[in-house]
Amino acid sequence: FSFPKPINEPVKAYAPGSSEKASLKKALAQLSSEEWDIPLVIGGKEIRTGNTGKVVMPHDHHHVLATYHKAGEKEVQMAIDAAMKAHKEWSELPWVERASVMLRVAELLSTKYRYILNASVMLGQSKNPFQAEIDAPCELIDFLRFSTFYASQVYADQPYSETGILNRMEYRALEGFVFSLTPFNFTSIASNLNMAPAMMGNVAVWKPSTTAIHSNYFLMKVFQEAGLPDGVVNFIPGQGSVIGKVVTASRDLGGFHFTGSTSTFNTLWRQIGENLGHYKSYPKIVGETGGKNFIFVHPSAPALDVATAIVRGAFEYQGQKCSAGSRAYIPASLWKEVKEYVGDMLKEIKMGDVQDFTNFVNAVIDEASFDNIMSYIDYAKQSPDAEIVFGGNGDKSVGYFVEPTVIQTTNPMFKSMVEEIFGPVITIYVYDDNKYEETLELCDRTSPYGLTGSIFARDRYAIDMAFNKLRYAAGNFYINDKPTGAVIAQQPFGGSRASGTNDKAGGPLNLIRWTNARCIKEALV
Ligand code: GLU
Repeated sequence: FSFPKPINEPVKAYAPGSSEKASLKKALAQLSSEEWDIPLVIGGKEIRTGNTGKVVMPHDHHHVLATYHKAGEKEVQMAIDAAMKAHKEWSELPWVERASVMLRVAELLSTKYRYILNASVMLGQSKNPFQAEIDAPCELIDFLRFSTFYASQVYADQPYSETGILNRMEYRALEGFVFSLTPFNFTSIASNLNMAPAMMGNVAVWKPSTTAIHSNYFLMKVFQEAGLPDGVVNFIPGQGSVIGKVVTASRDLGGFHFTGSTSTFNTLWRQIGENLGHYKSYPKIVGETGGKNFIFVHPSAPALDVATAIVRGAFEYQGQKCSAGSRAYIPASLWKEVKEYVGDMLKEIKMGDVQDFTNFVNAVIDEASFDNIMSYIDYAKQSPDAEIVFGGNGDKSVGYFVEPTVIQTTNPMFKSMVEEIFGPVITIYVYDDNKYEETLELCDRTSPYGLTGSIFARDRYAIDMAFNKLRYAAGNFYINDKPTGAVIAQQPFGGSRASGTNDKAGGPLNLIRWTNARCIKEALV
């Protein structure tokens, strides 16, 4: 018995005058006028600790969307206990029953809660309607539906048996709980870091990003409404260091599912390493971390395509996708034309509040992020080997707005060519047309990351050379397309090097990590 292969959830366009636009506007108005009080959800129960923080709109940071309660050490332990209590029944439930819960969440988000979830992501994470739409609901729904399909394949994969014996593989859940530490930039990923392990029978302790709590809490409520049993996923906002310490000290830690910065991932991995010997099994560690994604251009490429990839690949969602293009290598013969096209496009782009659907650029996530991005821009302004070609200004008085910024440098190892910024900034290195091969080699050794990258060329030999020279420089490699926007089941996502463990999100490679396989041999006597 295997599941029918799903199709990707259709993306709505929110065209002027459409009923879907009216529904989304209504949801935005509703959420803007409410102030939620967000509790922890442990074992299905809401808990208010009284130690609170505020959720604000990044594009209008005086506007409070919610107050949320933070977990202390006691609540983290309660969440672990609740997860372990739910473990036996959930992990022993036939997998199709678990799949049914996943598919019910997908249905609720595709229909009843579609606009309210989209509005929550728009307001809480400052995404325009199209960026919110491709995240939650669409990618989130795709993760759920395709996980059920791929789970059916994992479970169906059984060993060969010779005559007289019967071999079986039992894909058990991990013996402990999974700690999921989730990012602000995709609500779909926040969901999947819990639901992929849950699909395979695991229970989770979930620490959401403090800057995505609004949509993440809403999602937690939908999980419950869809029939996810109490304790299977436990929602505990709070301080990362407090939660990480208790979780990694627990003997029941079975896995760690992460998306976020390389440094946080390394810190948690080290903490887990320090506790080895203490756990029942080696915890499974799956992470997607940073990137310094390249757009590499050969002289045979059309300048307009390159400019489009720069503008969309670097500036959509303010460059806050792990996959965002943040360094480009452009041959001298093409740069003038590419620059003109980019300049023309940037003149057309508007920046501002998410409520105006014509704004392409909204705010970056918070003040710390704003300050960090501006420090890179200011550094470039003062450096003799760099110049600001477009943008370069920021204003945090109302919201955390940073102009789409293009830096040009003569130094291929310039700070912003090497380090991840996570904002709307791309740095261009213009190379001599005769140095294509050397520049590819330079690109490969410039950054420690290996997440995404694009090659633009019409010359097939040039494409092939890039493909080989940049073998490990990108886990998602694009030919003549921007380096962002991977679609579930079409471009399985994840890199290696300092970009993560390469367990391709949303697919069988990832799901199998959340299993503990037992092989059973029976003699047919
Ligand atoms: N899957 C997303 C994309 O291809 C990026 C995921 C991330 O930011 O972690 O754009």
